[in-house]
Amino acid sequence: MKVGFVYDPIYLKHDTGQHVEGARRLEAIISHLEETGLKQRLSYIQPRAATTEEISLVHHKQYIEHIGEVAQKGGGWLGADTVMSPHSYEAARYAVGGVIRATEAVMDGEVGSAFALVRPPGHHATAAQAMGFCLFNNVAIAAKYALNKYKLERIVIIDFDVHHGNSTHDTFYDDPRVLYVSTHQYPFYPGTGSMEETGRGVAKGTTVNVPLPAGCGDAEYLRVFRQVIAPAAKRFNPQLILVSAGYDPHWADHLALMQVSTAGFAEMVKIIKGLADELCGGRLVFCLEGGYHLRALSCSVKATFDVLLGDTSIEDPLGQSSGFRAPDIAPLIKAIKEIHSLP
Ligand SMILES: [Zn+2]
Repeated sequence: MKVGFVYDPIYLKHDTGQHVEGARRLEAIISHLEETGLKQRLSYIQPRAATTEEISLVHHKQYIEHIGEVAQKGGGWLGADTVMSPHSYEAARYAVGGVIRATEAVMDGEVGSAFALVRPPGHHATAAQAMGFCLFNNVAIAAKYALNKYKLERIVIIDFDVHHGNSTHDTFYDDPRVLYVSTHQYPFYPGTGSMEETGRGVAKGTTVNVPLPAGCGDAEYLRVFRQVIAPAAKRFNPQLILVSAGYDPHWADHLALMQVSTAGFAEMVKIIKGLADELCGGRLVFCLEGGYHLRALSCSVKATFDVLLGDTSIEDPLGQSSGFRAPDIAPLIKAIKEIHSLP
């Protein structure tokens, strides 16, 4: 099956200056995909700008207008960590539209799976507030869009960004149609995502937070994927899997303190792809979130595409980290399995 990718130069025009979440992240990814010859093996999916109606599936109309106004006035800082330039509103609308288009391409069978290489990222932006480098929650909007357009009843969102996706968590906390599963360093930014938060009312049990101590590497993540994420996804039996793919758990990434390698990400993606193949006809959409070490990011995104294409040999030029001791997460996994009654 074909593997699609979304990209557009408009994403570079969200100009954040020297901010760690900068255009060079996507430039590094695209040039690495070109240099390695991988890009020509992928099917291009053209993004479009999401409409205000679509963005308001998650965000308040007043907030959307505010973002438009800030851009029109030349940009500026929204809180302590998120900055906008004159083209940021347009870029953000195309980021949402990019994930929507990737989802449509997969749902309509144009491609088997897809990866939306978009920015600004999305999973922190709340209904009424920009935060954590995010303006609109791309993946949450795409999920709501897919629920409506394709009359879906069950979507799984897997979020392996090192930060908890507080907005995605909030968006679906009352919605039993979406199983949100997040692995994140904890306690850490943004402070949310304890394992006791499992969803509300009819959605009880459809939020699975895996708050990990600093220092977890490939072995710990894969344990979580095999022992928590896989059984939770199988029980939920989704019709589509969306992934908030943040590569900031990489050991070389300085925004957090995890120890995952590029080869580790590839193994995680293999498990996700296996779940999609087994449960929902392979329907799988990746959406770029964080990842700030340019080499680690571009190699790990390429490894993700390699796995989606079915390649077995994964290049990991950065290798494994050394000189750290991984924490014992067996008690944590046991506790989460108990909370969620997982086999
Ligand atoms: Zn992150």
